[in-house]
Amino acid sequence: MTKRIMIVEDESIVRLDLSMMLSDNGYEIVGEAGDGEKAVELAFALKPDLIIMDIKMPKLNGLKASEIISNKYNIPILLLTAYSQREFIDKAKKANIVGYLVKPIAESNLIPAVEIALQQAENAKMYEQKVQEMNNELKKRKIVEKAKGILMDKYNLTEDRAFKKMRTISMKKQVTLEKLAKHIIEKYGT
Ligand SMILES: [Mg+2]
Repeated sequence: MTKRIMIVEDESIVRLDLSMMLSDNGYEIVGEAGDGEKAVELAFALKPDLIIMDIKMPKLNGLKASEIISNKYNIPILLLTAYSQREFIDKAKKANIVGYLVKPIAESNLIPAVEIALQQAENAKMYEQKVQEMNNELKKRKIVEKAKGILMDKYNLTEDRAFKKMRTISMKKQVTLEKLAKHIIEKYGT
């Protein structure tokens, strides 16, 4: 799938240059902004896969804009900076900044940085999904455990018997163990 990139840079010539280099390499430029305020607005509206953001800009600088965007969306941000602005990088840790490029930007620097940033974001997303799946699984297990406990108390069953009973009902009624467990908790739980 084509990756959607947003470019934020107050110098329109640099913006054009970046846009052309990225387009040449198969990326889609979904939005361009010339200041931090517009960047925040566009990022919220477009939710791009990656934002390339200049630091020094009018109205709202790139670091502040990055912070505001990162508070709301998990969009990776690649900063553009002049050599003298490296000191700002420390301030960027709170925001979702995955790297920075020192101007002037050459295609041979830009494209690998963009690729790495996108890959990192992809990995982070997969990791998050995995954690989410594990949490769901854990929640499911807790519900089943709770229902099992209720059955054990109510019918004076061993743990094993209670679980087997649940499994039998779930198969007979063709409902998931989780659904059955929820039903038992609703009906008999305290
Ligand atoms: Mg600038």
